[in-house]
Amino acid sequence: MRAVLVVNAGSSSLKYQLVDPDTGESHAKGLVDRIGLPQGSIKHEVGGHKHVRELEVPDHVRAIELLEEAFAEHGPDLAEVDLIAVGHRVVHGGQDFADPVVIDDSVITAVERLVPLAPLHNPGNLQGIAATTRIFPDIPLVAVFDTAFHQSMPEAASTYAVPREWREERRVRRYGFHGTSHAYVARRVAELMERPEADLKTVVLHLGNGASATAVDGGRSVDTSMGLTPLEGLVMGTRPGDLDPGIAGHLIAHGKTQAEIDHALSKESGLLGLTGSADFREVMERRADGDADAALAFDVVVHRLVKYVGAYAAVLGGLDAIVFTAGVGENDDEVRAAVLERLGVFGVELDRAANEGLRGEEARITTDASAVQAWVVPTNEEWEIARQASEVVAGG
Ligand code: ADP
Repeated sequence: MRAVLVVNAGSSSLKYQLVDPDTGESHAKGLVDRIGLPQGSIKHEVGGHKHVRELEVPDHVRAIELLEEAFAEHGPDLAEVDLIAVGHRVVHGGQDFADPVVIDDSVITAVERLVPLAPLHNPGNLQGIAATTRIFPDIPLVAVFDTAFHQSMPEAASTYAVPREWREERRVRRYGFHGTSHAYVARRVAELMERPEADLKTVVLHLGNGASATAVDGGRSVDTSMGLTPLEGLVMGTRPGDLDPGIAGHLIAHGKTQAEIDHALSKESGLLGLTGSADFREVMERRADGDADAALAFDVVVHRLVKYVGAYAAVLGGLDAIVFTAGVGENDDEVRAAVLERLGVFGVELDRAANEGLRGEEARITTDASAVQAWVVPTNEEWEIARQASEVVAGG
């Protein structure tokens, strides 16, 4: 059994999945939670069974040991698996990484240098890498960067019109995130449409807690809504998306500190700021009950989505497909319908029956007559990481 162990390590949690890189089959998955905090736990899922252990997990090395113990106890036995690589999700690869790489000291140094650009994410990723190096010294480790897919953006799309010093010394430019998901979904929709990816102009809408839109032309990202940080672009669970950059200065002039503003923009804005809940499903329930804040939040979310799809159709010079993915995109038929109904100017014609009630399944949700196809394609970042990791290992 050929497999890649996919690891997504954050500062206090570590998600893992053992994936067949060729078929995407998941042999087991799990989550080590509350690393370095009181009341930690590991949940290991295999063959439809969940095995939970509650115990303190002081650090990432212990987390990887627990993962190994969980495989030994509940299977599959890692000694029996042809483990070809450990694929690590790394959030920020800056301009250094347009492709996945086998991790060596130079890669670690480069990811450390990028910490100022992703202070909430890259440190946890690095701790996960260090821990797997200790526990699996003989298995190649591969870094798959969330930013890599967007390194193909032309400079016109990646450049902020700010002073040279900011751009050159502070590396202020647009990087984009969720690249692994956008790459997977763009490729998958081409397969579903039975068209070569090279011929397609696609807008992918990854709508989860974090949300981003990407314009994909012939399989390459040519623009994306997240920028230097994951704050820019669409309205998210707790992040605002696009803002007038003058807002920060305005608030500082009125006594807010930079730390308060940073916290509010990443943790207290978006749906949470508008409604008091960051959970889209809950917002939809409140909207159905007649809550005015929830109704406004929905309208703001939809308005921003419509604006991005329209802008990206123009950037692409045409549009063949719009794809919805991640928690909200895969599950919420109302948001999909609201967006598509407002895109009639592009010849989009929603297939109401196909859309309604569709959850977590691949399907086309526009009519045969629609000039642009819209699809729901569940994302599979773990498979994409496994696939990329196995290609890098085979290539090296
Ligand atoms: P993450 O970015 O954390 O991976 P997900 O892709 O899991 O997030 O998306 C989480 C979001 O999806 C939450 O806002 C959640 O409410 C929303 N969601 C999940 N299921 C549904 C559903 N059936 N209807 C509406 N929204 C849903």
